[in-house]
Amino acid sequence: MLEKDQAICLRAVNYSDTSQVVTLMTRDHGKIACMAKGSKRPKSAMDGAIEPFSFGPAVFTIPKEDGLTTLSEFSQQLRFRPLRQNLFALNCGLLAAELMESLTEMNDPHPQLFDAFVHFLDLVQSVSQTAAQLAHMIAFELTLLQEIGIAPVTDRCANCSDAFGSRWKYAYFSSEAKGLLCPGCENAFVEKIRLDIHAAAALSEPQRLSKISEALLRQLQNAMLHHFTQMLHRPPKLTQWFWTK
Ligand SMILES: [Zn+2]
Repeated sequence: MLEKDQAICLRAVNYSDTSQVVTLMTRDHGKIACMAKGSKRPKSAMDGAIEPFSFGPAVFTIPKEDGLTTLSEFSQQLRFRPLRQNLFALNCGLLAAELMESLTEMNDPHPQLFDAFVHFLDLVQSVSQTAAQLAHMIAFELTLLQEIGIAPVTDRCANCSDAFGSRWKYAYFSSEAKGLLCPGCENAFVEKIRLDIHAAAALSEPQRLSKISEALLRQLQNAMLHHFTQMLHRPPKLTQWFWTK
């Protein structure tokens, strides 16, 4: 049966001179792995080679058994072309795509996450300052964790439940504790990233992300990378572009 859905490419691998295997995030069918036969021919029904962030309506056949979905049409729009004009924005998009691919299941629909990803790409390609791009990146990472049901605890200490507040002086983020740690609890956890109190505040109220300095955003992005590394049991491939020593 033919299915039609909005889709965005997370990953594309060459299969032959003319074909590709592509991982698409679709809005209502979740993540699908597709054989795109003839996609690299200039006059295919897929508007030419598919690459990360290729976006538009797709037509595909879902197999009855486990196996590759067959992509038959992909009307690629140029919506995310500006992403390629700024290296850091592109890397933000690639990290988000990698996290989407690593942390979602096949054929498990997440329409709100799909919309959040597309919205994030629109935002990150519309700004040129690194701080603004990082703020969008961290906000998307928090949304991703929330949408897949593992939002970190950011409004209180994940260990003792003490409400987050300025009397903390500083905070830690621990992947093992799954959220913020108050100064009184930090000794109970080995793996943790120290956060300035204003960085921790932005984690609990993401609308503050656009108001804190690039240095604080980098602390938070380190905490996010640390968290994803623990979850995936390996650092995300894009880590070197984001980790601040
Ligand atoms: Zn505590």
